[in-house]
Amino acid sequence: QHQSLTTHYARFNSDEQRHHQLHVSLVTDLRDAIENDQLELYHQPQIDLRTGSIHGSEVLARWTHPEYGQISPEVFVQMAEDVGIINNLTLWVMKRAFQQQAQLIRNGHCRRLSINISASDIYIPDLANRVVELAHRYHIPTNLISLELTESVMVEDYNWLKQLISALSASGIEVSIDDYGTGYSSLYFLSQLPFTELKIDRSFVRDLHKSGRHQSIVRATTDMARSLGVMVVAEGVETEEAEALLRRYGVDVSQGYYYSRPLPFQQYQAYVERMDSV
Ligand code: C2E
Ligand code: CA
Ligand code: CA
Ligand code: CA
Repeated sequence: QHQSLTTHYARFNSDEQRHHQLHVSLVTDLRDAIENDQLELYHQPQIDLRTGSIHGSEVLARWTHPEYGQISPEVFVQMAEDVGIINNLTLWVMKRAFQQQAQLIRNGHCRRLSINISASDIYIPDLANRVVELAHRYHIPTNLISLELTESVMVEDYNWLKQLISALSASGIEVSIDDYGTGYSSLYFLSQLPFTELKIDRSFVRDLHKSGRHQSIVRATTDMARSLGVMVVAEGVETEEAEALLRRYGVDVSQGYYYSRPLPFQQYQAYVERMDSV
């Protein structure tokens, strides 16, 4: 019988020993799932607000556990970070994402792809060159790749971060600050590091039309980004009203349930084909 993971955790919470055992076996399962290609990639479309066409997609990892069913990426990504296997996860995601992107390109749909990078991934030796080599192997132009660095990466070694972002940008790869406005990125970082994109966190976007404060923040952030030559993406767009405001502020790209939930690759490809044929 299938029981949700939360139920299991809740039941074992009082029982330290078994709680620990469940954790250990989940880590083993995750390790195996990465090694045996049992994770899946979903694509959430990103819409170009000027043209209405699909700019590209953000890839999001999915894990269906044979016993516990769907496990949220918030849970298994955190787990992978805690036990030190996040680099394997990220490299797996990258490889699979490029395979799928190559298929899109072969079918005549040149679209950008955004990949989430965890803080400790920045220490993967020679990361910039590895991304470039992997892109070449799958014949992906580097300017169709974007790496999303969560804001929490800003507490990491500054010089190392600067080197990495410079190397990525020099190779034509876009570098995005994810969850912008919720964490640690200061205007100093923004002025010193060659980011190419800023992703406004969905907490500012969700109820945009109801919050004058959020409107001021999103508008000012967009103005600043534009004058720095940095592209602006809004995430968590759920309503027509939010989209109208974002367009008025000059936000470049919009992503959220209003357009589409994250889709399995085949469905994303069908979505792109439909949009390209109208
Ligand atoms: P994120 O990078 O901020 O990704 C966006 C999350 O917001 C996704 O959740 C997406 O499904 C959700 N979302 C998109 N549009 C809307 C909307 O309109 N409303 C609401 N309420 N939510 C929306 P998801 O897929 O559950 O991923 C959660 C987090 O897990 C991601 O947050 C990211 O931090 C992490 N994650 C997911 N896949 C990966 C991965 O392959 N690698 C790494 N390092 N982290 C990942
Ligand atoms: Ca992201
Ligand atoms: Ca985000
Ligand atoms: Ca997030």
